[in-house]
Amino acid sequence: MKLEILEANENVMRFVLSGVTPAFANALRRTMLNGIPTLAIEKVIFHQNTSSLYDEILAHRLGLIPIRFEPGRFNLKGECKCKGKGCSNCEARFYFDSKEARKERGLKQDAPLKVYSGDLKSLTEGAEILAKEIPIVELYEGQQLKFEAIAILGYGSEHAKWQASNTSFRPVPTIKISPTKCDGCGACVMACPRGVLEQKGKGVRVVNLENCNLCRACIDVCQKGAIELIPSSTDFLFTIETTSGLTPREILKLAIEELDRRAEEVRKELKLK
Ligand code: SF4
Ligand code: SF4
Ligand SMILES: [Zn+2]
Repeated sequence: MKLEILEANENVMRFVLSGVTPAFANALRRTMLNGIPTLAIEKVIFHQNTSSLYDEILAHRLGLIPIRFEPGRFNLKGECKCKGKGCSNCEARFYFDSKEARKERGLKQDAPLKVYSGDLKSLTEGAEILAKEIPIVELYEGQQLKFEAIAILGYGSEHAKWQASNTSFRPVPTIKISPTKCDGCGACVMACPRGVLEQKGKGVRVVNLENCNLCRACIDVCQKGAIELIPSSTDFLFTIETTSGLTPREILKLAIEELDRRAEEVRKELKLK
């Protein structure tokens, strides 16, 4: 097995995983989607809401805000020492008060106010709103909003708000161009939507193989039948796009640990140790 990282930043990671089965690749993908816990707002206590949105709609919007936290900082509520009562080790608390927000922005108390995710104040160390510019609600003249929000760890399999990432994978292709059949017409280069092929002299060469999405447009336009596209059954190109407060690198690491933990459980059950 080999893992080669092509690109990695705070939001997206692309890597090639070689020497695995499609089943293993899919297990890893599914674990990165909904097999690791992330932090999301689960409960909102409204003290005042005279905005144009119902409490339920606001609570739903708040639930989808990505919250940054250090992996391991919080416990699953059901596994916490507080036995599910709620404490600073299993709950992250936030609050918002439109009166304070208007004061901070130097607005009159009855002025219109656009409320963004970044206006929520964290009351718990180790948890902070990640994306600060998500619009929550627009308050018109005189409208007030005040609430407390409680975030807990959960899994994407329970609710999409806890989904850690959008992760996809596709087989790494091998593209073969027959030099005896190819007449260098360039039609495949023009047809390729991903810039994978390049004209070279009287032939064509592959320049960005990792960009190929196996669409077969090149094969469809080639009148000479010169192109062969072979998807690998062991090497896969993964793309992780985080949708939570975890970075793609953290998501990959946690997913591998989770798969390892599950395998260990099976080993114990089968008494294979
Ligand atoms: S379309 Fe076919 S014949 Fe034309 S350049 Fe591409 S591979 Fe060669
Ligand atoms: S399969 Fe599609 S993306 Fe890949 S080289 Fe052919 S045209 Fe380009
Ligand atoms: Zn607790």
